[in-house]
Amino acid sequence: MSQTPNVVEFRDVSHTFNRGTPREFTAIRDLNFQIEDIPGRGEFIAMLGPSGCGKSTVLNLIAGFRGFVPPTRGEVLVFGQPLKGPGPDRGMVFQKYSSFPHLTVLQNVMFGLDLLQEPVRTREERVELAMEWIRKVGLEDHAQKYPRQLSGGQQQRVALARSLVLQPRIILMDEPFSALDEPTRLDMQRLLVDLWHEVEATVFLVTHSIAEAVYLGDRIWIFTPAPGRLAVQIEKEPPRGQGTDPLQAQESAEFKKDVQLVAREFTRVTT
Ligand code: ADP
Repeated sequence: MSQTPNVVEFRDVSHTFNRGTPREFTAIRDLNFQIEDIPGRGEFIAMLGPSGCGKSTVLNLIAGFRGFVPPTRGEVLVFGQPLKGPGPDRGMVFQKYSSFPHLTVLQNVMFGLDLLQEPVRTREERVELAMEWIRKVGLEDHAQKYPRQLSGGQQQRVALARSLVLQPRIILMDEPFSALDEPTRLDMQRLLVDLWHEVEATVFLVTHSIAEAVYLGDRIWIFTPAPGRLAVQIEKEPPRGQGTDPLQAQESAEFKKDVQLVAREFTRVTT
């Protein structure tokens, strides 16, 4: 019987930096997990853990960046294939510096499209597609501006558009909203949920915000201090799934209870 391969699978993965030097450091140890491919539906995996416990390392491994693949031990599979490097099936959004400062918003969003070999598109089609995503993230009046001319929230909208225009199956987000003020952060959560309904990708989101993890995560993972191990997995239906606004969600007793539960587990695992 043929089986759909898992979106991502980690088999006994450990990763050590600067091996054999005095600066040797094991960031993650013995990580095992599988994210199944559920047709027509991606998942949000919210990753919490103390600073330096290897969360970004997990994202970088999935991204297939140099210096991360292959992992020191174990295997990382994406759609059933051992990773060789980055690919357009995976998009990354960082906290900062996701966009090229010397390119306009339109040029930034077109950058990845211009590099894609397939599908073949004319320049006109690429501009049209890029503009469609610029509109979706609400920046239609800013397409000719440079990132420095935009607010932090707007810059993260560019980062989202740059990534989503390529229709990745996996979106890797490394504290994407951490540098934003709280109202902007909630705006970005709303936008992310809206856009995610269109792309239905699997999202790995590293966050420091327990409320953000509870609002967005189908699964919440809590890592131990380095070397990071996956200590707790909480699976639940997130409030965003019911179409609830993040601010409204935060007021419910159930949400507060979930935040307390995750906070308790976080403290237990990390102290
Ligand atoms: P987190 O995202 O949980 O804060 P990271 O995955 O960024 O943790 O880092 C885990 C540990 O690995 C940190 O101590 C960090 O300094 C170290 N580290 C991360 N990347 C590298 C690298 N390229 N070279 C050396 N050490 C690294």
